[in-house]
Amino acid sequence: MALDRFGRKIHYLRISLTDHCNLRCIYCMPEDQTFRPNKDLMQDNEILLLTRLFAELGFDKIRLTGGEPTVRAHVVELVRGIASTPGIRSLSMTTNGILLGKLAAPLKEAGLQRVNVSIDTLDPQKFRRLTRWGNLDEVWKGILAAEEAGLAPIKLNAVVVKGYNEDDVIDLAALTIDRPWQMRFIEMMPFAGVTDLQTTQGISAANIQQKIESEFGPLEASGQYDGEARIYRIRGGKGEIGFISSVTVPFCSACTRARLTADGVLRMCLLREKEIDLLTPLRNGATLENLRALILQGVWEKPWGHGLADGVIPLNRAMNQIGG
Ligand code: SAM
Repeated sequence: MALDRFGRKIHYLRISLTDHCNLRCIYCMPEDQTFRPNKDLMQDNEILLLTRLFAELGFDKIRLTGGEPTVRAHVVELVRGIASTPGIRSLSMTTNGILLGKLAAPLKEAGLQRVNVSIDTLDPQKFRRLTRWGNLDEVWKGILAAEEAGLAPIKLNAVVVKGYNEDDVIDLAALTIDRPWQMRFIEMMPFAGVTDLQTTQGISAANIQQKIESEFGPLEASGQYDGEARIYRIRGGKGEIGFISSVTVPFCSACTRARLTADGVLRMCLLREKEIDLLTPLRNGATLENLRALILQGVWEKPWGHGLADGVIPLNRAMNQIGG
């Protein structure tokens, strides 16, 4: 079991399959973002070996992310390998959904259990503006394909940005009236790359909730968390609404996560710069014992929480280079 020095059991690993993406969301990276060459990214066998090591240390829950995980070559076979790693009981993916139309069924068959699809608005023009060129129709088809394939429950993520989609939260929330989906609203967080926008155009979860309640009346609080999301419901709705208030009401004390970036670096807090390189030692012939020790040391030193309230912003990577 991997414990940090505060006694938290760390068992949830987010693996970034690539820093590359087929969109350029304005809150994630600059338009002219460059990506790492493939040789600098973990190869399939390296991802599978590290997954096995993490699983042996008690990590039983994995989420694949990026960049955009579905643009990775051989993603279906990679999912099959991760899903069949002894000890992994939960395997999900965060995706922009663009490629799910064709990949949802093969991914499900390979062992993927669930997807979270990012969709920040239901307005095609606004979607194009937020993603710089995305086609909303492809995402919608991807969500329906995921539902059809049984990648359930469907969870949708929206980052809310002042001047871009703050009023769209009402249409997004309305999706949960007739559908058993979970619509999650995420406070924008600051990283490198587009820090100015991230620090000036965020909207608090409380404010988003107010907008939704002004349309639908008071939301019913479930009193439950789903991961980091506080869960509510529109009265009589079939689905759920989640608020992820990482900036205004951090949930660090309950954090059980680690992140493995696409270039093989262990990052124990999304919003702290500290990193432990695993890929270089692996390529330089470190033993499995050495690698296990590096992971356990990294886990032990997991920061208590982020430092946004003290003005500490992680500036060594943009969001797509970490893995959301
Ligand atoms: N490409 C995939 C996607 O769009 O879901 C996976 C990677 S993306 C970085 C993962 C999640 O991070 C998405 O839901 C995205 O909206 C969110 N995200 C990106 N930049 C963010 C930021 N600055 N603050 C909060 N969430 C952010």
